[in-house]
Amino acid sequence: MIVRSCLHTNLAVFLAACVCSALVRAQPITSEQEETQRIGDLVVANHILANQNILDAWGHVSIRSAKNPKHFYLSRSLAPALVKAEDIMEYDEDSKPVDARGRALYVERFIHGEVYRARPDVQAVVHSHSPAVIPFSMTGVPLRMAFLLGAFLGSGAPVFEIRGAAGNASNMQVTDQARGVALARRLGSAEIVLMRGHGDTVVGPTIKVAVARAVYAEVNARIQMDAIRLGRPIYFTDGEAATLKKMEDEERSVIRPWELWKAQAARAMLQ
Ligand SMILES: [Zn+2]
Repeated sequence: MIVRSCLHTNLAVFLAACVCSALVRAQPITSEQEETQRIGDLVVANHILANQNILDAWGHVSIRSAKNPKHFYLSRSLAPALVKAEDIMEYDEDSKPVDARGRALYVERFIHGEVYRARPDVQAVVHSHSPAVIPFSMTGVPLRMAFLLGAFLGSGAPVFEIRGAAGNASNMQVTDQARGVALARRLGSAEIVLMRGHGDTVVGPTIKVAVARAVYAEVNARIQMDAIRLGRPIYFTDGEAATLKKMEDEERSVIRPWELWKAQAARAMLQ
């Protein structure tokens, strides 16, 4: 009797554990958890882009809020390698901080706010002063897909000329809403816009894709420059570009580099 009762008890415990673990697995992620995850990814993105030499003391990366999709998260004014979760601030759709608490802000935060307003499909934005990209912003030579990871560049990235929005004696930076609107208009439906003599702004459907694009824009620019120096490059056909773009848009295609760059950045921060 005692043996049978024990068996029944053990079976009941086992079944309860199975049901419980199935229920735990079935729990959808809450919006709070999603928000925390996004802020965690944003901190990692800052470190990756700094470690990959896409951002140095300057430039920034943001992510759209899942809870309030008109809002976005961006660090306080800080070199990206130094950003921690507590430095991340929430901004509203006019690029105003929700709770500034006296913290210094990036002057070019309007890039992010106006791109999110203009492009509901965009979940993350990277603004960098990517050095190899800059020559393509000022020579009339279009930055275009030059290797298989550059499909997001298509047959030529648009270039933003700030003189149209800010006149002939500006500081070249996107320091107000009007300049942000003009930049977002020039970006249009593209994934990157070059900024003359300044850098570029890259967007993505996820932060991992946006980070990969920011890194590969720099790599593509170096490859394209080398190819031009050697001779006449053979570029991709529209069909090749479209096939590769479809792959590039999916987050799973950038998981491997994201995990590698994340580990490298973490290691670099320990040194
Ligand atoms: Zn800038």
